Amino acid sequence: MKIGFIGLGNMGLPMAENLQKEGHEVTGFDINKNINSTIRISNSIEEIVKSNKAIFTMLPSGKEVIAVYDEIIDKCESSTIMIDCSTIDIKSTHIISNISKKNGLLTLDAPVSGGVVGAVDGTLTFMVGGDERAFNKIKPLFEVMGKKAVYCGDSGSGQAAKMCNNMILGISMIGVCESFTLAKKIGLDLKKLYEVSSNSSGSCWALNTYCPAPEIGPETPADKNYLPGFSSELMLKDLMLAQDAAIQSNSHTPLGNHAMKIYEELLNEGGKGKDFSYVFPFFYNKK
Ligand code: NAD
Repeated sequence: MKIGFIGLGNMGLPMAENLQKEGHEVTGFDINKNINSTIRISNSIEEIVKSNKAIFTMLPSGKEVIAVYDEIIDKCESSTIMIDCSTIDIKSTHIISNISKKNGLLTLDAPVSGGVVGAVDGTLTFMVGGDERAFNKIKPLFEVMGKKAVYCGDSGSGQAAKMCNNMILGISMIGVCESFTLAKKIGLDLKKLYEVSSNSSGSCWALNTYCPAPEIGPETPADKNYLPGFSSELMLKDLMLAQDAAIQSNSHTPLGNHAMKIYEELLNEGGKGKDFSYVFPFFYNKK
């Protein structure tokens, strides 16, 4: 398939390269002109819209996604399917879905889980909202870039699933870090805590697969001086999106709110550029 890919950063570039490796004809575009890649990179965003059957965006936030859609949507062929894989707020997703609809185009919101490693290895999970026929057409492409694609419902459902999932992750990571902090302070061997909890009721992804303490369990960012992985900045962004949605929908999410404040504090106190599991040393070293 002929595919356009806009936003060739940490996530977008390996995703686009995986599509090309599978035999698709991919043309990429980014405002950063210093990108080295095996895919063809165009200097003009206008070229991306020409005869591509699917156009992916993987951009920082709703603001950039809306700007790109505003720029290209009326130039796209009507058979093109637009897929936004960025993590953005639901309001922006509805805006781009409506702009597309007005121009006769189908869109999908398809944010991902799995981070840069998942993007490189082609093991992302896609959570997808929008037109179901479009989902079925694009599913083979999701399967190239990921291990799982779940159709979640109407436009915005993919973003809703992403923010709810990451609220679980942010809260559970903080819970694991608190327990590891207490264990270390009261003299319990953290390897023993891991062995017990990863096989008991404390078991969860943040502990079993992404242990925030070094040299315990599988290799994680904790073993690389908390180099992300998934950065604390991105976790804060996702928790803020969840809190915005909670306020708008009058949902009671006290732990999500507290988790957001903890990541704000961590970023103000040395956590910039660190993985989101950096909460463990942050808590342990707190006076
Ligand atoms: P990134 O900053 O590495 O990449 C974004 C790219 O978009 C950059 O190359 C930038 O130059 C480009 N860009 C910005 N404005 C543009 C425009 N108007 N036109 C064309 N290109 C433009 O970010 P990333 O880590 O690749 O993340 C992208 C999205 O994926 C974000 O929404 C993020 O929340 C989400 N996400 C990231 C991760 C992760 O681990 N990095 C995991 C899951 C989801």
